[in-house]
Amino acid sequence: MSDRIWNPIEHAPVEEIQALQLSRLIHNVYHVYEHVPYYRQRMDEAGVKPKDIKTLKDLAKLPFTYKQDLRDTYPYGLFAVPMEDVVELHASSGTTGKQIVAGYTQKDLDIWGDCAARAIVAAGGGPRSKVHVSYGYGLFTGGMGLHYGAQTLGAVAIPVSSGNTKRQVQILQDFESDILCCTPSYATYIGETLRDMGIRPDEIKLSAGIFGAEPWTEDSRRNIESLLGIKAYDIYGLTEIIGPGVAYECSQQTGMHICEDHFLPEIIDPDTGEVLPEGTPGELVFTCITKEAFPLLRYRTRDIATLSREKCGCGRTLIKMSKPRGRTDDMLIIRGVNVFPSQIETVLFQTNQTSPHYLITVDRVGSTDTLDIMVEMTPDFQFDAVRLVEEKQKEIETALQSTLGISPKVQLVSPKTIQRSEGKAKRVIDKRKLY
Ligand code: ADP
Ligand code: ZN
Repeated sequence: MSDRIWNPIEHAPVEEIQALQLSRLIHNVYHVYEHVPYYRQRMDEAGVKPKDIKTLKDLAKLPFTYKQDLRDTYPYGLFAVPMEDVVELHASSGTTGKQIVAGYTQKDLDIWGDCAARAIVAAGGGPRSKVHVSYGYGLFTGGMGLHYGAQTLGAVAIPVSSGNTKRQVQILQDFESDILCCTPSYATYIGETLRDMGIRPDEIKLSAGIFGAEPWTEDSRRNIESLLGIKAYDIYGLTEIIGPGVAYECSQQTGMHICEDHFLPEIIDPDTGEVLPEGTPGELVFTCITKEAFPLLRYRTRDIATLSREKCGCGRTLIKMSKPRGRTDDMLIIRGVNVFPSQIETVLFQTNQTSPHYLITVDRVGSTDTLDIMVEMTPDFQFDAVRLVEEKQKEIETALQSTLGISPKVQLVSPKTIQRSEGKAKRVIDKRKLY
């Protein structure tokens, strides 16, 4: 049985999607070339003119755009319309350095609302839903994106924003919210707060959650689903492209459909820039083909994922991306070994009596990298049994050693020691960067 969809394009034949993509791509390459001097110069340097873009494959002729280009042209250097046509500004949350600014025309906001509405419908929502938005409102795109999505759909947007977690629970109860939108780490925190307040998941009306803005694992999904008694859906996006709604998960929960009628995806080898075949993991690159104010060409997201056109059980034909494993810049290189924080999380979830809260500290002593992991235990763990603590530490260290290929030092801590996050969680401290 097919899922309900919001926009007919979600079910369109691939040839129709690709024909639309090509005409939109050509149109937007002209738009950018004519209105953004920075892009004109980059394209001239690369020896490519808008008329050279005749097929979707010609996309590879265009130069990449890097985060550094956005910083070099900060704040408005890549805008392709005059400021009088811009109706809203947002900025990245600045997780990795200086913030960047994105502008939207009214048409851009309408596209955003439409993409986010697709995500809400894919999560089972509809015009009667009450969408509880606990992403932070403000320059961060999380709040407004789902807000516009709910309103586009004719659903109710409840702009709670993040923070004041007990009040979140009260609003969930009193307003009878049925879809919760926030980061997966905040969803965990809200779920734990509900439990601590002695409220059972079946005492609230939530049926689904749409969680994104940071990497999360399948174990984390199951944990949130059981804490809140819901089905948890992933959503992906980034400020540079539009915000949440670039891609969204369907009933199959096996990757996210990309709104490829607006954002053309490619997967490339991050070292050589070469376009990789479908199914090969690499860096996600997006080209905006409908946006007016801030239409980036071949933007290097630094997120690692794969693409798949395999038929999806939900009936959608839009290409799917895998859950991003994290950014290339999240990857830690410890003693020459590549480590993603998500690998550590997976091991911790498989260990009994650990909670999903941990803090990774990487440092350098002399010329050797060190990896320390603080792990919070569940309330039933007996800290006074010294031998038990040592055994547990050893058990986790051995499991991590066999997954990562390097040996960490594990410290077990009591419940609620590690600070909870109301937005994107900060789980890694790399002290080597401070020297
Ligand atoms: P910042 O770059 O300052 O963190 P953004 O809020 O624009 O600002 O973050 C976008 C980034 O968040 C993406 O490039 C990606 O790394 C991460 N992200 C967003 N959604 C997801 C998701 N569903 N899974 C994994 N990572 C995600
Ligand atoms: Zn699907």
